[in-house]
Amino acid sequence: SRREGFSAIPSVKWEDVGGLQLLREVFDRDIVRRIKYPKDYEDLDLETGILLYGPPGCGKTLIAKAVANESGANFIHIKGPELLSKYVGESELAVRTIFNRARMCSPCILFFDEVDALTTRRGQEGGWVAGQVLNQLLVELDGADQRKGVYVIGATNRPEVMDCALLRPGRFGKPLYVPLPSPHDRGLILTALGSNKRIDANVDLMAIGSSDACKNFSGADLSALMNEAAMLAIEDKQSSRNEISDGAPWIIKEIHFKRALEKIT
Ligand code: ATP
Repeated sequence: SRREGFSAIPSVKWEDVGGLQLLREVFDRDIVRRIKYPKDYEDLDLETGILLYGPPGCGKTLIAKAVANESGANFIHIKGPELLSKYVGESELAVRTIFNRARMCSPCILFFDEVDALTTRRGQEGGWVAGQVLNQLLVELDGADQRKGVYVIGATNRPEVMDCALLRPGRFGKPLYVPLPSPHDRGLILTALGSNKRIDANVDLMAIGSSDACKNFSGADLSALMNEAAMLAIEDKQSSRNEISDGAPWIIKEIHFKRALEKIT
C-alpha cells in the first residue's frame, strides 16, 4: 500500500459506491461543485468539515475517495492512530506538514480516518501526545484563509468519544451517518462490486444482496462474499478436467455465490 500522506487522484468512482445516494448528493453540493466551479462560490464564506460516522466497512473511505475522484482533486489519507505513533515528539510538526502538503496540492481532500484516535487519549498515558495533536489540528482547522482548496473529511466508528471541540462548525462540523446497507442497498453494493467481474448472466445480484442470507452484511462483508465466490469460480475452472483450452476465463455462477455464502456465514 502507498506511503501515508501520499497524494494522488483516487480511481474510485461514484459508480463503485453502492447505495448511499443521499450522501452522494450532500457531497456533490458541499464539495464536488465547489471544486469544479470555484468562481461561483468566491464571495461566500463557506467552510466544510464533514464527519462520516457509522459501523465499520460501510463505505466511509470509499465515498471520500469517490468525492476526490469526482472533483478531480488530490486525496491525502491520514490514519489517526498512525499519526500519534509514528511521529512521537513531532506530532505537532506532522500535523502542520500534512496541512502544508494539502495546500500545495490543492484542490485536495484531506481524509482523517479513525479521527477519534486523536482525541480520546487525553488524561491517559500518552495523552500528552494526543493533546498536542488535537491542539495543532484545531489551529489548522481554524485557519480558514489558509484552508482554501483543502476539504477536510473525518471518519469514525465512535463519534461519542470524540472531543466536542472538533465537532464545531468549520472543523468536523457536519456529521453524516453512514449506515449498514438496507436490503436493497446490499443488492446495489453487490452490483457495484460485480461490475468489473465476469458473472453468469442468470445470476441476480440484486436478489442475492437483498435476501436474508445477507442480513446485516456490511459493504466489506459483501466484498468478502464477492471475492470468495470469485475464488470458488477460479478453483472450479482450474480443476475442470474437460477443459480443452487453458485460456478460457473463469466465470462466477449462482452455485459459487451459494457456496460462498455457506462458507462465510
Ligand atoms: P472502516 O470504518 O472499517 O474504515 P469504512 O466505512 O471506511 O470502514 P470502507 O473502507 O469504505 O469502509 O469499505 C471497505 C470495503 O468494503 C471497500 O473497499 C469496498 O470493497 C466495500 N464496501 C463498503 N461499502 C461499500 C459500498 N457502499 N459500495 C461498494 N463497496 C463497499
